[in-house]
Amino acid sequence: MIDRFGSDAQRRRFLPKLASMEHFASYCLTEPGAGSDAASLKTRARREGEHYVLDGAKAFISGGGVSDVYVAMVRTGGDGPKGISCLIVEKGTPGLSFGKKEKKLGWNSQPTAMVMFENCRVPVANRLGEEGDGFKIAMMGLDGGRLNISACSLGGARASLEAAQAYLGQRSQFGRKLAEFQGLQFRLADMATELEAARLMVWRAASSLDAADPEATFHCAMAKRFATDAGFQICDEALQLHGGYGYLKDFPIERYLRDVRVHQILEGTNEIMRVIIARRLLARSNGGP
Ligand SMILES: Cc1cc2nc3c(=O)[nH]c(=O)nc-3n(C[C@H](O)[C@H](O)[C@H](O)COP(=O)(O)OP(=O)(O)OC[C@H]3O[C@@H](n4cnc5c(N)ncnc54)[C@H](O)[C@@H]3O)c2cc1C
Repeated sequence: MIDRFGSDAQRRRFLPKLASMEHFASYCLTEPGAGSDAASLKTRARREGEHYVLDGAKAFISGGGVSDVYVAMVRTGGDGPKGISCLIVEKGTPGLSFGKKEKKLGWNSQPTAMVMFENCRVPVANRLGEEGDGFKIAMMGLDGGRLNISACSLGGARASLEAAQAYLGQRSQFGRKLAEFQGLQFRLADMATELEAARLMVWRAASSLDAADPEATFHCAMAKRFATDAGFQICDEALQLHGGYGYLKDFPIERYLRDVRVHQILEGTNEIMRVIIARRLLARSNGGP
């Protein structure tokens, strides 16, 4: 988002350390009272000379408390999406604080925490784009984020499929390798087919985004919905094919399952992906472009 919407000065200031991974950044949209309906966010940014003064709280922020840079969507104007602006808040800014590290089902390698602003003064020079551009910037950021999350699901599903393939070749029951049961072979075949379909959808959406295709948001929403649902189902199938061992922490599958589960929820839930897809379809059938 900084690369795409930042000024030259902002790009020079923030990108080298982010690109080298010396710094990490967090994306701060969700609030306790504004999840799927993100445009109803309430964190207020009041202009005072060359600063904005922020008050409010962001919930579920990945990297919260650990990241160096917080790209926050805040309300500078009236209600609705047009009243939202995007500000870069640096760690160490007085008035910026963090909640406790949330305890989660999975994704334990990444901290999640609330991000709080209390009389937090941020220079106007840290605004990305113009006042009122914040929601548009946030939604464009989500297109790439959805591909990122889809790719994480592909990875978890691929690892689970490979583990299941190996396990069926090792484990014997009824005097035969599990891999010899055709019912189980068919399940592996379906898992591999679903994974390939998901991978192709993610590639297609990525290529659409790279090409600045006007349908990129539609393709990213479809790929995210499909790849994250398929990813979870494939991990679940792999766990089932491991029998009781799949449920044990000695095997990696239970962790893959827990880790990919959240992909159906974040970067917009899969219900919201359906809202985006359906809205586009209906706009087309009503004669829109
Ligand atoms: C581990 C984790 C990390 C996260 N990281 C970030 C982050 O870094 N930055 C950030 O900004 N946010 C982050 N989030 C927040 C995430 O994006 C939200 O949780 C998500 O958008 C859903 O919002 P909500 O939890 O308030 O659920 P709600 O919006 O309250 O939804 C509850 C249920 O209702 C459904 N629903 C809501 N509206 C509709 C509708 N119109 N039609 C049909 N169904 C609907 C939802 O799909 C869901 O099933 C993270 C969440 C998690 C769990």
